Amino acid sequence: MTKTNLLRVTQMNAIFLDTEIEKSLRLIIQEACKHLSPGLIAPIEPEINLLLRFGILKNSVLNKGSTFGQQLLNIQYENMTCTKAILYLLLNCLDYVKTRCEFSRPSHYMNNKLFKIYVIFKILDFINISVFLKTGTKPRLTERILGLNQVYRDESSPRTFQSKYMTRELLWNGFIEIIVYLLPLINYYKLKRFVRYYNPLYKRKTYTSVIQGREFTVNTKCAHCNENPILPHHMGCSHIFCYVCLKGNLAADSKYECPICEHRNPNVLCDKVNK
Ligand SMILES: [Zn+2]
Ligand SMILES: [Zn+2]
Repeated sequence: MTKTNLLRVTQMNAIFLDTEIEKSLRLIIQEACKHLSPGLIAPIEPEINLLLRFGILKNSVLNKGSTFGQQLLNIQYENMTCTKAILYLLLNCLDYVKTRCEFSRPSHYMNNKLFKIYVIFKILDFINISVFLKTGTKPRLTERILGLNQVYRDESSPRTFQSKYMTRELLWNGFIEIIVYLLPLINYYKLKRFVRYYNPLYKRKTYTSVIQGREFTVNTKCAHCNENPILPHHMGCSHIFCYVCLKGNLAADSKYECPICEHRNPNVLCDKVNK
């Protein structure tokens, strides 16, 4: 039987899933501990994270020979032995040493050394990813160190690349991006005014009787943003606006009407309120 080559995207997805699983479990622990006193959990946070990772890897790689992300995608390590599994677990828990040292002795010279080792690991990781992109095997540095290969768990059902899902996803993303960009550009007041203007059944409000009643008190709210007006201004009716609210709306729509009483007086567009 010929061996089906694992897709790079499947291997990357497995890594992504593993990260997300760990993140969501960490979040659950944080939620559970959030009502405890603040100084209680913070000092042992690296240990909690270590235990969590240890638990995840013990139940996945050590017991089943593949990570949870790989199990979800129907892949596994081909040549996993007990020794390799233990080494895999230890290598994945190495960053605990760095976090612990940073935590307990922030200015110790050990941290400097550890940081250098960490940088070397990161560079090696980068090289490994580049090699992976070229060859399509061993996306994780740990896998390359231990010589672990990934294969399909069930050769009869390999994951095939379905471009129709990809296209749909891309279309949706593009569509949402356009909406997010367009929505703030629509001037709803102007739109409302247009609808009102061309609606023969609409009866305009009479506002002449309320014009005299303009009063500025501590309880006055801006007719546009409903907050206490900053630099109170008016446009001829009894309602008061912030200067920015009124001026901004007039700049966007020269025929702007008061949103409460629909008043508009071309001679009084933006006047200061006299207390
Ligand atoms: Zn306002
Ligand atoms: Zn008004």
